[in-house]
Parts: sequence; C-alpha cells; structure tokens
Amino acid sequence: MSHVFPRHTRATLPRAVAGDGCHLIDSDGKRYFDGSCGAAVSCLGHSDAGVRDAVKTQIDQLAFAHTGFFTSDPAEELADMLSARAPQGLNRVYFVSGGSEAVEAALKLARQYYVEKGEPDRRHIITRRQSYHGNTLGALAAGGNEWRRAPFAPLLIDTHLVSPCYDYRDRAAGESPEEYGARLAAELDARIEMLGPQNVMCFIAETVGGATAGALTPPPGYFRRVREVCDRHGVLLILDEVMCGMGRTGSLFACEQEGISPDIVTIAKGLGAGYQPIGAMMCQDRIYDAIRDGSGFFQHGHTYLGHATAAAAGVAVLKAFDDRDLIANVRDKGAKLRAALDAEFGQHPHVGDIRGRGLFLGVEFVADRATKAPFDASRSVAGQLKAAAMAEGLICYPMSGTIDGRQGDHVLLAPPFIMEDAH
Ligand code: PLP
Repeated sequence: MSHVFPRHTRATLPRAVAGDGCHLIDSDGKRYFDGSCGAAVSCLGHSDAGVRDAVKTQIDQLAFAHTGFFTSDPAEELADMLSARAPQGLNRVYFVSGGSEAVEAALKLARQYYVEKGEPDRRHIITRRQSYHGNTLGALAAGGNEWRRAPFAPLLIDTHLVSPCYDYRDRAAGESPEEYGARLAAELDARIEMLGPQNVMCFIAETVGGATAGALTPPPGYFRRVREVCDRHGVLLILDEVMCGMGRTGSLFACEQEGISPDIVTIAKGLGAGYQPIGAMMCQDRIYDAIRDGSGFFQHGHTYLGHATAAAAGVAVLKAFDDRDLIANVRDKGAKLRAALDAEFGQHPHVGDIRGRGLFLGVEFVADRATKAPFDASRSVAGQLKAAAMAEGLICYPMSGTIDGRQGDHVLLAPPFIMEDAH
C-alpha cells in the first residue's frame, strides 16, 4: 500500500522514473510526450543539462540562506534579469515557491500599499468568472471557478466577479472583437463605480486565461481599456501570469503583447521549469517605494522565499531562453501546432473552438458544433480524452466540469519550448 496522499485518491497512476527531452518515462519503460508540460511547467523539457548543472553547482556552494538574515547571489541575479526583461516599471521582485504564493503576496501587497497610503477602505477585489489564481484560501477567493471554490466557500473572503474574456461563447452576434473588449472593460468600470472607487483595491486577471477554460485570449484593446479604467479609479491592476507568462505565449511576459504594464504581475511555473519550485511577484517602483518609505516592512513571508537553489534554476532557465532563442521557437512551433490542429480538428463535429497564443493552445469540445451545446456534465469528455491520450503516450491537460453555471470540456496543449517540428 502506498502511503502517499494523492490528489486523485481512486486513481492508480503510472510511476514516472525518468525524463528525456520532451518525454517522461514510466516504470514500465513507456514514453509519454509531455504535450502540456504537466500544467504549463516544464518548458525546457525534462533533462536540461544547463539547469541541472546550475542547481548542482549552487547546492555545492550554498543551498539556502534564510532571507531574514541574508540575500544571495542567485536571488540578486535573477531579480536583475527579470526586471531588465519586464514591462516598464516592474523593477522589484519578490520570490516565493509557486503560483498560489505569488498571488497571495500580490493581494497582500496591494492591501498593505493602500493601508500605508492612508486609504484603508480600499479592500474589494474584483476578479473574473472562469478564472483561476491558485488553491490557497486567499488565491482561491480571488478566482472565479465555482467548482474549486464550493467546498471552501464559508472560509473565503468576498470578492466581486465580472465577465471573463470568452469570445467563443460570449461575444454577441454582430459585435466586433474590439466592441466586445470595450463592453467587458465598461462592465469593470461600472462595477468599480457600484462598489465606490475609494473602496476598491484591485482587479486581478490572467492575461491569457489558462487552467479553467483553456487559453482564453483577450479581445484586442481589452487590456488597454482595463488599464485606463484602473488608472482612472486608482485601482491596482494585478496580472496573473503564473501559467501564461515566462515565454509561453511567445513573449516573456504575456502582457507585452497587450501593450500595457500592470501594477503587479505574478509568475511561477516556467520560471523554475519544474527543476525547482519557484515563483515571483513583481511590482512597480511606486508600490515598493510606498512600503520602503512607510513601515519599511512587507508583512508577509514564507521560509523558502528567495531560495538560493531555486533562484539559480531560474537564472539558468532565463539563460537557456536567451542562448537558444527559445521564445522565438515558441512562436514558430506555436503557429505550426495551431495550423495542424486547425487542419486536423477544425471541422470535427465535436470540436467547438481552437484558440490560444504561442505554445498555449486550448481546444473546447461540444456535443453539437452548430448550437455550441456542451456534453452532458456526467460524461467528462476532457477526462476521457486525458486517459485515452495517456494510453497513447501523450500528456494533455484536461478541464471539465461546471464553470460559471456552464458545462465545459476543454484540453490545454502547452508543450515544451524545445519541441521540434517532428514532435
Ligand atoms: N495562477 C494561475 C493563473 C494558475 O494557472 C495557477 C496554477 O495553475 C496558479 C495561479 C497557482 O499556481 P501553483 O499551482 O503553483 O500554486
């Protein structure tokens, strides 16, 4: 009997024993192409010598030094590299162990910023339905996925939900993508007005939506309008790029393609690429300065923040992106994968939509293409597809269940940035 407490308590999972480039290998020697990098994590595949060596070297030198007492070379270097590559003004980097922690830190920083600025009424968080921002209680509250939230609802702080960017289902007949984006931004504006701008702390959104409905891209101009709305009301814009960031959509930060810079951005997954658990929250100078010139202390922190070995892995990941021009490969292979999906499945009677950006692509399944009617909730088509794909040696990330009162079946494809045409 296994003493591991697995997430799926009734499933018997294969045991992964090795990684080889884009493939994972189980204890029976079966190879799986990692078509989703787990959940958009292993962007350099599973046997990157550069990251492995960087981690080994760092452990030999210094594994960990508590950030209550020390900073470290890798943490300093990684922060420099990230801020040099980030959208304008995101010059301060706070390292954590993963995505949920990054979101928790972002929410707490937003709150502390306003408390220190003398605006303690700013407490409301506005988020989008069909969003996911992590599984700890604060991050879960900030997400809009009903299924994930339901059992814990009594423990969650109140947040305020607005519509997601979901072109396939929600753009009205005759409405242009730009008009749709303007309508969504106007909804945010109205919600802030309703709550009273002086009471609103932040709007949090995934730049490209990931784990809830599979690679939901924003309509053109949406984030520019959102930026303008937030600025007008003094509301902080937090972009959660835990999944879509770190090159996944074809630019290091997904928001580069939207032409805006958020007040706070969260990253994780691809930052350590699975070689080490690491995430980060990055913020604008003025937010950092308010804390520095105010209390001088961010009232937050976990033991492993700024972990030297994890930061060394992050440095090696960014160097691999640069040295091997991997983000260009994301754009190239992403376009090819998209074209192949369109050609192969674009007219399939049960494929409603194929969407996404770079190597971050979603496929939505429907019972009826013409009406967009979803499959019956009991069928979990995406779950069946995951099992069938694994049997064939392909890993893809399924999402199914009732979301926002609507049944949906989606898979996310997010293969490693090192993939080649043959894959
Ligand atoms: N935010 C987004 C957008 C995510 O997709 C995820 C995980 O899928 C998280 C936060 C939580 O990250 P983690 O699982 O590393 O805690």
